[in-house]
Amino acid sequence: MEKISIAIDGPASSGKSTVAKILARDFDFIYVDTGAMYRAITFLAIKYQVAFSDESALAELTKKYPITFKQSVHGQLVFANGEEITQAIRQPDVTAAVSEVSAHAKVRNELVEAQRQLAEAGGIVMDGRDIGTTVLPEAEVKIFLVASVEERAQRRYKENQEKGIDMDFEAIKEAIAKRDYLDSHRSVSPLVQAADAQLVDTTGMSIDQVVTKIKEVICSKGF
Ligand code: C5P
Repeated sequence: MEKISIAIDGPASSGKSTVAKILARDFDFIYVDTGAMYRAITFLAIKYQVAFSDESALAELTKKYPITFKQSVHGQLVFANGEEITQAIRQPDVTAAVSEVSAHAKVRNELVEAQRQLAEAGGIVMDGRDIGTTVLPEAEVKIFLVASVEERAQRRYKENQEKGIDMDFEAIKEAIAKRDYLDSHRSVSPLVQAADAQLVDTTGMSIDQVVTKIKEVICSKGF
């Protein structure tokens, strides 16, 4: 497999990270979860009591506490300045605030730069909201994954239960819809399908079916 870049964008819980991880494993590519980077800054803001509205102080956090990833037998681990924060960034307090933090241009500039560096060598599957439009506009393959809010909430509910995070279904659905709204309506790099991205609606599809569909798209582009 040629060392191409695959950009996977879409709203919260549309299955991006699950399929991105499988594709990266199958192609022996690097997987970059850009949502984890915005979550890490939000976690640090809570920890160091930086206001979610303080754009400059939030951008400083990205410089002071570099975010790194490490592969382990338990999956991908996330670190901020060496501290392991893999579970902490998935907690409801981080999820509730991340869209406000990620809307700031200075925060995005820092993280987009870091994301481009991670992708420099190619052979990458990167998921997020603005990968096909802003981070890697030259990506050879762009996928825009969507699914109904109801189904996405069900998936997140199940995932939370497995991780021991207690949050009721209606609250999850509301939180997803709110995040979709904020992510799609911000002025800097909003969540939007790139003109040259392939739309895949995963409602009612199994993970295997989605992976197969994306591999078909990749093949159809000659890779
Ligand atoms: O992908 P995940 O749901 O973990 O992303 C968490 C949040 O990070 C999103 O709701 C969005 O606010 C922000 N994000 C972003 N741009 C990206 C990835 C995530 O703004 N490329």
